Amino acid sequence: MSQTFSQLGVSDTFVKALTEQGIETPTKIQEQGIPEILAGKNAVLHSQTGSGKTLAFVLPLLEKLDETKKELQVLIIAPTQELAMQIFQEVKELTKETSFAVEALIGSGNIKRQLEKLKKVKPQLVVGTPRRILELAETKLKLHHLVAIVFDEADRQILDRKSNEDYVQLERKMPGNCQFIYASATATPELINRLSQKVKDPVFLSVNQGIVKNKIEHLFIVGDRRQQIDHLRGIIRNLNITRGMIFVNSLERVKETVEKLTYHGMKVGALSSEQDKFQRADVMQKFSNGDLHILVASDVAARGIDIQNVTHVINLQLTEEKDGYLHRAGRTGRMGKEGTVISLITRHEINKLKKWADAFEIELHEKQYQYGKLTDRNFNEIDNKSSNKQVNEKDVKSAAKK
Ligand code: AMP
Repeated sequence: MSQTFSQLGVSDTFVKALTEQGIETPTKIQEQGIPEILAGKNAVLHSQTGSGKTLAFVLPLLEKLDETKKELQVLIIAPTQELAMQIFQEVKELTKETSFAVEALIGSGNIKRQLEKLKKVKPQLVVGTPRRILELAETKLKLHHLVAIVFDEADRQILDRKSNEDYVQLERKMPGNCQFIYASATATPELINRLSQKVKDPVFLSVNQGIVKNKIEHLFIVGDRRQQIDHLRGIIRNLNITRGMIFVNSLERVKETVEKLTYHGMKVGALSSEQDKFQRADVMQKFSNGDLHILVASDVAARGIDIQNVTHVINLQLTEEKDGYLHRAGRTGRMGKEGTVISLITRHEINKLKKWADAFEIELHEKQYQYGKLTDRNFNEIDNKSSNKQVNEKDVKSAAKK
């Protein structure tokens, strides 16, 4: 029987924030990592992407923050700006009900503005990229009160020769009693060797289990905007979806989608930001007891609502932000159950979706909706005489090659 986050030592505020995101059961790396980090050990966390490594170090480090001390206590270094922002978003989400000052300091941010900000706000936790942190540490960013530092994707930061220079400099600037945490999806002998030499009494935690996302199948279907509502209807019928969520980007689209699907006799409800809490509870109740098969929602309306056992998430519109894709996908495949995410996109969105998938290391599969059925896309079937379709095919292939 796995332990709960509370049993691992995570305080109620953060447990509540996790629950709001539908995160209830710790993954293996969290189960092992949280207590060790809370105990102040230097640690190396080795587990695959998608295994919940970020929370395995973020949660215990948030516990270590002293709200009363207006100084930098925890520093998380990520090798890329994207990853740093991703971690920062997770931290923001967890701390939104607290008064902790958290900041992202990354290379593409305006350094003057960052310095101005550091003058006014004294962040207690910073997520940043190595070079920018080093630059800021020359002046306004004070590192001497740090209690812990994390190097995420440590293999990249340490083994790559160029990055290693920054890493060495950063390491030198750390105060003597600072706790060191290294997270990595790969653990080559070279990395282990280096860390064993450098880090004082590290605990090595290697977990080959608990992948959060691998039970979710990620599909996409390319089509014209005009066709998508028909595709959507067909997919719901074809897959016989009785517990699905459809995501759109605005209240208007929520209403329009509900109207169209209801017109065709489907059991559809809306989660909209216009509803009060009783109306929402009513919709949720109907969805959980099966009176409604489909919930249409915008991201805002779905936030903080805990929905279990959703089998399909359909993106009728893609989110603006890449992280939104994961948040929506996280509504399905919970608690080790299987789930499917289907994105209905235009061909102009293929590259964007591919890029996101690469960043999250998600495997995407293209399907096509034809004659009322969802089938694998077969390039040979494409009518080569149609120039439009040829363009389409080329785009898909080049995007898929990446
Ligand atoms: P990571 O491996 O840290 O990149 O996490 C991958 C995704 O899994 C993120 O979207 C997390 O929000 C989500 N996640 C992390 N821990 C859990 C958990 N215990 N249960 C469900 N989802 C989780």
